[in-house]
Amino acid sequence: MTDSPAVEIAPWKYDAPFVYSITYDEATIDAISNSYPIHQEYDIPGHVCAVSGYLGTQRIERGTSMREVFHMSPEQLRFLADRGWTVSSHSHSHCPTGQEGIDLDLEVRVSKIELEKALGTPVRLLAFWNDLAIEDQIRPIAQQAGYLGILGIAHPFNGPDFDVWHIARGTVGRDMEMWVAEPIASMYHHTREAFPGNLTRENTRGKWLVDITHLVVNRLPKACGEGLWNRCSTPAMLDARLSEVRALWGEDVWAAVPEDVVEYTLLRRAATPMASQPDEGRIVCTVRLNALPAGLQSRELSFTAHVPWSSVRVNGGAIPAGLRDGVALWTAAVHDGAQFVLSP
Ligand SMILES: [Zn+2]
Repeated sequence: MTDSPAVEIAPWKYDAPFVYSITYDEATIDAISNSYPIHQEYDIPGHVCAVSGYLGTQRIERGTSMREVFHMSPEQLRFLADRGWTVSSHSHSHCPTGQEGIDLDLEVRVSKIELEKALGTPVRLLAFWNDLAIEDQIRPIAQQAGYLGILGIAHPFNGPDFDVWHIARGTVGRDMEMWVAEPIASMYHHTREAFPGNLTRENTRGKWLVDITHLVVNRLPKACGEGLWNRCSTPAMLDARLSEVRALWGEDVWAAVPEDVVEYTLLRRAATPMASQPDEGRIVCTVRLNALPAGLQSRELSFTAHVPWSSVRVNGGAIPAGLRDGVALWTAAVHDGAQFVLSP
């Protein structure tokens, strides 16, 4: 043995080569009727960004491209939450961020509390609304309010070192061209060039894509702006997207709600694995946790280790482990001082 055995925490859970999430801004009722059945078919969980002041109502205010859409009620949100979906706050009123006298305490902190009352579970992420103009004012309020991160809008691919306070979201989809009336780059990175064949094994490997759309419908209310299609999908487009994700990576993709990826990442960043020299045919790895953020629900990490054996057992077989090309992989709950004993 020349150097100490490397035990590492996998960048993504299960050492997945690609992580995929998709979010629906506004939490409109088509998420249940149109998107949910497609998600079931591909076994990919969804996420809605809910406007707490609109639950169970039709949006009728002027000055929005989203006029007359229907927002899900608390019962409808809970239907999805009971089936593995998650809900972030997308503000209380979705007021334009350039508006005078905007009440950010209401939009950021109170909207979290209101949604938690509606759902009965913690709301862990905030999703920026309108535009990113006052991002710097919103971030500290979100941090104080107890959010774990913010869903932003940016180039679609996050690497393992992504900023939890500006998670990149962007749209990648096929067949969008038929809907896109404005062939200009929008803040959502909907460009004609961005769509066909955008997802490849090469450009997705090691990355987390947080896909973004709004309504998933075949027809929008007449009152909506034409340009809204730039931000929406049809059921056929959603089917094509999820199908493409599965076609590229099959069961290897970690299809997860964004909260799970953020929690895994925060836990990973707080954890340090320390491994002993192989000794009497064993490697002992101790995990230290430092400065763990409050409010994390997840305690599971995935580990990899080079081992000089043709088989591997973790904690005498108590923890399931795989071995590929001399690298052991296991996923287990951790606490400060957790130990994993690897043996042939
Ligand atoms: Zn919105």
